Amino acid sequence: MLDLLAEISGCVHWVQAVGWCNNIAWNVGPLTARQYQLAIERYEWNKLQSFKSIVPMVHLSWNLARNIKVSDPKLFELIKNCLLRTIRQCALILEFVKSKGVEVRFHGRGKNEASHYCGQCEIEVFNVLFIREQEKRHVVHCMDCARKQAPGLEGFVCLEEYRMSELIEVFDHFVLQPVVIWETHDQGHRMGRETNDVSSGGEERLATPS
Ligand SMILES: [Zn+2]
Repeated sequence: MLDLLAEISGCVHWVQAVGWCNNIAWNVGPLTARQYQLAIERYEWNKLQSFKSIVPMVHLSWNLARNIKVSDPKLFELIKNCLLRTIRQCALILEFVKSKGVEVRFHGRGKNEASHYCGQCEIEVFNVLFIREQEKRHVVHCMDCARKQAPGLEGFVCLEEYRMSELIEVFDHFVLQPVVIWETHDQGHRMGRETNDVSSGGEERLATPS
């Protein structure tokens, strides 16, 4: 059975039920400033309501910064802001961990490793994971839940997935791209943004925006 829902925000939510209990869901949305802003706002709202966000927005934002070029200033600002807040949060957490005399072990990250969520409150846990064995399983905790269980982080192992220098490098390399405008002489008008919008034939010239 397939259910396709187009949400008001323009996000297409597509759920496919396979068998009696497995669900696969695709969350597909246009990559626009408005869509991103709505997603971030919902993500923050979910946190306040202690509701798990299926889309790990922090992880997603870092992937966007690594893999796409953004020329929309509004979208760029929103993503950059999310990266900045994450770096700040990671730095503060690491500082706290060190102040408690707990060693931070570099763990790295598998290529397609899924995002981590706190085993207690289901919040997305990015970069700094607090691990504790519970019922013979290693359970990831966010810092708040770890501190609730052990104010001095006793019994927790602290793992780091990315080095701070790596995050800062991604942050620095994520810059606003200029909009590329192509001019076609034979048609006498400008075709903006998408370089492959240009029709074939005619002399083409690359113009940068003034
Ligand atoms: Zn938690």
